[in-house]
Amino acid sequence: MDVVLFGPPGAGKGTQARLLAARLGVPQIATGDMMRAERASGSELGRRFDAYMGRGLLVPDELVLELLEERLRRPDARAGAIFDGFPRTVAQAEALDALLARLGRRLAAVVSLDVGLDAIVERAAGRRVCEACGQTYHVRYNPPPSTGRCGACGADRLVRRDDDAEPVVRRRYEEYVAKTEPVLAYYEARGLLRRVDGTGSVDVVTRSIGEVIDAVRSAR
Ligand code: ADP
Ligand code: AMP
Repeated sequence: MDVVLFGPPGAGKGTQARLLAARLGVPQIATGDMMRAERASGSELGRRFDAYMGRGLLVPDELVLELLEERLRRPDARAGAIFDGFPRTVAQAEALDALLARLGRRLAAVVSLDVGLDAIVERAAGRRVCEACGQTYHVRYNPPPSTGRCGACGADRLVRRDDDAEPVVRRRYEEYVAKTEPVLAYYEARGLLRRVDGTGSVDVVTRSIGEVIDAVRSAR
């Protein structure tokens, strides 16, 4: 099953994508995580991402699509994937449809998490990410273990993201409104869009997404 988890930066996509991927037995494909890993490796490609990501701008479509296509062709994604933070432009949405069609697949649903700007700024301010495995925490709403180590992998590398500073979060939100929000109309027109209130607790949002996925599965 191929599902897009959609929403503004900080809406909870990564948190929910991890849980949904585990539930459906397919990988989470998070373009932001892949790019951060590439930056951390110090590669030439990673250096090209720096200029955009540090300033809260979207990375150009052709670079994103190259990464995505390579990832989607790996064997673990043969039965589907949860797309997190992708697509972020209408061109990326069109490219995803074409890529899935070449693989004989099509999206089952696009689940959009609705969360307003104030909550986004607060969520980004408290976000901590494990540099080793990508697990995400929030100092208040989803705190890491009191040992300070990651509860998922045990590493001692919980950090703040450089793009979670408030001015960069606001810039990312502007990018979202200008370039990413139009993707909603693209999916609405194709009957794939399912909107979920993303403002409740992590558990409440997980349940709402679960209900949507169950309904989509039983209609297939
Ligand atoms: P995204 O992938 O959309 O950028 P994340 O999943 O990383 O968002 O979540 C952003 C921050 O908000 C993280 O610190 C995460 O722990 C926290 N968070 C996620 N879902 C919720 C929620 N339902 N309520 C409160 N905080 C949340
Ligand atoms: P995320 O981890 O999803 O919050 O993404 C962090 C940053 O990575 C974004 O602000 C963009 O600079 C870049 N990025 C991640 N995914 C994409 C994408 N699909 N298209 C363009 N840029 C992206």
